[in-house]
Amino acid sequence: MLYVVDHPLIKHKLTIMRRIDTGPKEFRELLREITLLVAYEATRHIEVHEIEVETPLEKTKGYYINDKDIVIVPILRAGLGMVDSILELLPNASVGHIGIYRDPETLRAIDYYFKIPRLNDKSEIFVLDPMLATGVSAIDAVSKVKQVGAKRITFISLISSPEGVEALEEVHPDVDIYTASLDRQLNDHGYILPGLGDAGDRLFRTK
Ligand code: URA
Repeated sequence: MLYVVDHPLIKHKLTIMRRIDTGPKEFRELLREITLLVAYEATRHIEVHEIEVETPLEKTKGYYINDKDIVIVPILRAGLGMVDSILELLPNASVGHIGIYRDPETLRAIDYYFKIPRLNDKSEIFVLDPMLATGVSAIDAVSKVKQVGAKRITFISLISSPEGVEALEEVHPDVDIYTASLDRQLNDHGYILPGLGDAGDRLFRTK
């Protein structure tokens, strides 16, 4: 299922991120801020446990999240820009990494790195990539984490294309997608229109 988290704060911040003249410092800050706001919704389903808490006046029922069950998996490299803000919300989460790049000719996914913490039945996996474009990397990343036992997987992006959403939903219908914007379409090079350009290059100033 696709959830577009189009809160006014997100719309405003995403507009600044898209601008061609927004520099890397501001781009990184906005990526962190929007990720935090989208993650707030994307974590709505995670399990809460009851606990007794003593206020200065009396005992009452409280709640806690076992964030050691949370595993976030950024797709390298742009997904790295989303890690810190999720760790601010869930400081004991584990972080796995998946390195995938798109062959520019074939647009196929090429894997070059895979390191995921040990998973159990309670593990809640959040796969991160700011851009859900062709869906090739997303499908590949989700398949890889499933191969090592992941059962509960959520995908978080900032900008998604209709083509990417459709492809991911077709192959992995059990995976919910949370995004800040569903954009118009892909261009012939697999870039999202209107999009924001190459998220990795803008984050790390590699162009
Ligand atoms: N990756 C990006 O960084 N931008 C796009 O538009 C598509 C894929």
